[in-house]
Amino acid sequence: MPDARSQVPRTDRILTHPAVAALLEDTHRDVVRQWVRDAQELVRTGRLAPDDVVPWVLGQAAPPLPRVINATGVIVHTNLGRAPLGTAAREALTQAARTTPVELDLGTGRRGPRAPEVVRSLLARVPAAEAAHVTGNGAAAVLLAVTAVAAGREVIVSRGELVEIGDGFRLPALLETTGARLREVGTTNRTTTADYASAITPETAAILKVHPSNFTVSGFTSSADIRDLSALGVPVIADIGSGLLAPHALLPDEPDATTTLTHGAAVVTCSGDKLLGGPQAGLLLGRADLVQRARRHPLARALRPGKLTLAALAATLRAASTPVEQMLTADPTDLRERAESIVGSLPAGASVRPTTSVVGGGGAPGVTMASTAVALPEHVAQLLRDGEPPVLARVTEGRCVVDLRTVAPSEDATLLTALRSAMAKA
Ligand SMILES: *Cc1c(COP(=O)(O)O)cnc(C)c1O
Repeated sequence: MPDARSQVPRTDRILTHPAVAALLEDTHRDVVRQWVRDAQELVRTGRLAPDDVVPWVLGQAAPPLPRVINATGVIVHTNLGRAPLGTAAREALTQAARTTPVELDLGTGRRGPRAPEVVRSLLARVPAAEAAHVTGNGAAAVLLAVTAVAAGREVIVSRGELVEIGDGFRLPALLETTGARLREVGTTNRTTTADYASAITPETAAILKVHPSNFTVSGFTSSADIRDLSALGVPVIADIGSGLLAPHALLPDEPDATTTLTHGAAVVTCSGDKLLGGPQAGLLLGRADLVQRARRHPLARALRPGKLTLAALAATLRAASTPVEQMLTADPTDLRERAESIVGSLPAGASVRPTTSVVGGGGAPGVTMASTAVALPEHVAQLLRDGEPPVLARVTEGRCVVDLRTVAPSEDATLLTALRSAMAKA
């Protein structure tokens, strides 16, 4: 058995290999060298054959965040980057990726406000808001709103709403960083308007109402209505989470910005990349004086979004519809016909199967929608993830379930090719 070290290809030999040399024309040398060192380490530890070093290095050049097809049936999938952007938003991203007048008025040639078009479209979509401001994500919007309105004073929050939103992000920990003191009221399952009312003191700066967007509490529960809280004489900051701008017929229990403001909330905060269907962003909408305070706060600069976000958000707000909306409202008959057509073009082992889709971490917990899937042998799920493009399916009851609700009809041909090639490998 030869010493593994003597078999490790030398760095200069790898770097001068024609394929690696071609890679170096548009890939930074330091990055390629790191891939080479990683490959050599794999050979040294017996996990890679010496002859496979070059292919392995070339394989590292795949896009770091490739496009995948979401066939999970989870419409807003946080692990898959939440809302897919529509055509106009993707086009706007590409345009703004070059130089773009993000803070320049082309009419006068002078410095102007940052992407005023975004705020204009937001106010057009939510006339109940006097003013609007955009941050890098929803958590930043909550942070900025609470800091601007209540730093150094008290914020009243229900114990039932001190939630963890995901990946260890806990609201109480975030609120502590604002410098506002939390005044917890009520219990996990029940908090009444009277609980809030009796906690108000001259120190109270705001009431914070947080929508539990990723769980439901059922049974003996109650939470206060925004209308009643807004009558208590203290500004109500409502974190609605999902970013619905107006009521949605299919999601009657999901709060929206228009209704929440009409019911008296002083400020609404939400995410841009959940049900709104846009890029990762956070929105603050509401009373002009409070939104202005947030915009002028020093923290606003640290939490501001980049030009790519602003471009994609502006295009999303203008668009007549979004991919998220199309997934939500997909017609069950269309879904079934698409599944039948795909199964008709696949070898034996594929079948049409009824399934249920969900909105996901983006909102509407507990809401399920009837859908149709292509069901395949369970082990195809892994082959699909390894495919090009990767397809993410669900494994249920020993079957690989490809839910068509979260696949755009325009992706069906690509999906079919991916399913065929995975089944051929099975
Ligand atoms: C998702 C969510 C957040 C966090 O928003 P991000 O955009 O992920 O930062 C905050 N509050 C609620 C209620 C949410 O649903």
